[in-house]
Amino acid sequence: AKSDGRGTYRFFEPEMDRRLQARRRIELDLRGALERGELELHYQPFVDVSARTVTGVEALLRWTHKERGPVSPAEFIPVAEESGLIRPLGLWVLREACRQAAAWPQWLDVSVNLSPVQFRTDSLVGDVRSILAETGLDPRRLQLEVTESLLLQDTQSVLVKLQAFRDLGIRISMDDFGTGYSSLGYISKFPFDKIKIDQSFVRDIEKPDSLAIIRAVIGLSRALGIAVIAEGVETEAQRDALRTEGCHEMQGYFFAKPQPAPELAGSVLRIARG
Ligand code: C2E
Ligand code: CA
Ligand code: CA
Ligand code: CA
Repeated sequence: AKSDGRGTYRFFEPEMDRRLQARRRIELDLRGALERGELELHYQPFVDVSARTVTGVEALLRWTHKERGPVSPAEFIPVAEESGLIRPLGLWVLREACRQAAAWPQWLDVSVNLSPVQFRTDSLVGDVRSILAETGLDPRRLQLEVTESLLLQDTQSVLVKLQAFRDLGIRISMDDFGTGYSSLGYISKFPFDKIKIDQSFVRDIEKPDSLAIIRAVIGLSRALGIAVIAEGVETEAQRDALRTEGCHEMQGYFFAKPQPAPELAGSVLRIARG
């Protein structure tokens, strides 16, 4: 740190230090979290609002620290990515999600988030194939969610892996769309099956700018012939506005929160009843 002559660094340094230490603490604790059984998956339904059916669920990682209680993925996923821990952790999530989904009705898909860091492993496609074989899940019931930052990586190697997944029958979703750096045109170079409209646009759907982006994304998905889903739907008004725009698949607290697998059946029934 540099001093501006008025001792500013004295204020900054301990602050930086605390943040670094907090990250290191998370990293250390996360290393043991799997063995201590502190990790669990929750699942949040995707709802087809026209048919009133649940089409699938997204697996979301939950960590309950023995002493500190629940730790948010927003806090520990970045640490896991920086430390490389996301590789074993991501495979655990995938195996657990596939294992549980294999026991569910055939029509219920499962969607798993993949970190861009996981794509920097040569064995990724082989690992996914092994997990499918091991758990017996039909690959057509598996969706993988990737974010735009993935597209900034080595394009050729990313394309090869995405294509290999699709050749296995797995579908690929572009998550948090609109928040990254990729242009609307760039996305057509990649083999996506679905676009997820980011929750920030849904939250602000009353604002003209957000609505314009939502319209553009829905238009893009139509032009490319791929599915579109809106996430973070919290109110009836948001649901209705999205439906008016022609988006019929949604996810959000308005329908159901992420929850442990045993509680899913209740939500699915409740949504079907309307
Ligand atoms: P994401 O993939 O965009 O997941 C959606 C997040 O929005 C989840 O937060 C979910 O609980 C939350 N959410 C769902 N419905 C609503 C709603 O109506 N309103 C609001 N405000 N939020 C809603 P969560 O579970 O805390 O996860 C945060 C992020 O952490 C995820 O964002 C994802 O990027 C990452 N993450 C979670 N689990 C995994 C995982 O297994 N692997 C990887 N690589 N990343 C994960
Ligand atoms: Ca996601
Ligand atoms: Ca998302
Ligand atoms: Ca997100």
